[in-house]
Amino acid sequence: SAIVFGSLNMDLASRVPRIPTPGETILGSEFVTTAGGKGANQAVALAKLGVATQMIGRVGGDDFGRTLIAGLQSVPIQTDNIFIDPSTHSGVALITVAETGENQIIGIFGANGCVDATDIARLQPALADAQYLLLQLEIPIAAVQLAAQAGKAAGVTVILDPAPVQTPDLTALYPHIDFLLPNEVEASQLVGFDVHDLETAKTAATQLQRQGAPTVIIKLGAKGAFYQTPSASGFVPAFTVAAVDTVACGDAFAGGLTAGLLAGLPLANAIQWGNAAGALAATQAGAQVAMPDKASLEQFLHQ
Ligand code: ADP
Repeated sequence: SAIVFGSLNMDLASRVPRIPTPGETILGSEFVTTAGGKGANQAVALAKLGVATQMIGRVGGDDFGRTLIAGLQSVPIQTDNIFIDPSTHSGVALITVAETGENQIIGIFGANGCVDATDIARLQPALADAQYLLLQLEIPIAAVQLAAQAGKAAGVTVILDPAPVQTPDLTALYPHIDFLLPNEVEASQLVGFDVHDLETAKTAATQLQRQGAPTVIIKLGAKGAFYQTPSASGFVPAFTVAAVDTVACGDAFAGGLTAGLLAGLPLANAIQWGNAAGALAATQAGAQVAMPDKASLEQFLHQ
């Protein structure tokens, strides 16, 4: 089983003819609320692939919080250790998409920004039954650090998706994680040069490992993924699909990779599951709704 310790968000998306200027009121044509947050997205990716999954994090004492929890429960995902924090609101992202394709996004952390040592106290007992702990950086980094330490101490495999890169120096986390999963943008921010292909990914992985990073898997979008363990490295090409929306492909990848590792696959094959989950997520609009289930993943892998 797996635990995801991280963010839950409600995304409020509107469609407008153009991005309004300061002080202007504009009429939009569409409005949708969808559940998001990298933590919750990864929990859904895992659970849909058949992994028994628990989500740990915080929502506010509001309707969004109740909706987010109910949404996870319906997958189903264990939510007993999600803290409903009455002192704040649930995390939200206010997204405006213009007909020109331009967008404007305001993220307000809310309850995600309040995750602290008291949430680690909820995580600790749950770790006894888990094999994997998935972390991202949409909650305070001090809490991520404590969670990674708790995971490592409990003997679970710790996976960090370093998104968004809050600080380019994540070296304090490296001794407590087993896998680091940056995409090209995050890898670039962590190493200080542009990572965009196999060659630059190799150089980046080597530099990150010199700084103490464990196994590094760099997600290269439609190209695939490059991995480097302490003793081996390789490239796993992506699947070719008609992509319509690459939102949350990285979260699907984390779910597919972990499901593959839990199934006992060698690393390169587990990365292939990650690539397949990412590719399938790219063929559908949305984040959590785009996550493939186990049957679709298996069918896709065998076609
Ligand atoms: P993130 O979503 O974190 O930015 P990527 O964009 O690199 O990460 O996507 C994660 C994985 O999803 C990639 O490594 C790849 O396997 C898969 N993927 C993403 N975009 C596509 C695409 N257009 N076609 C096929 N696979 C894709």
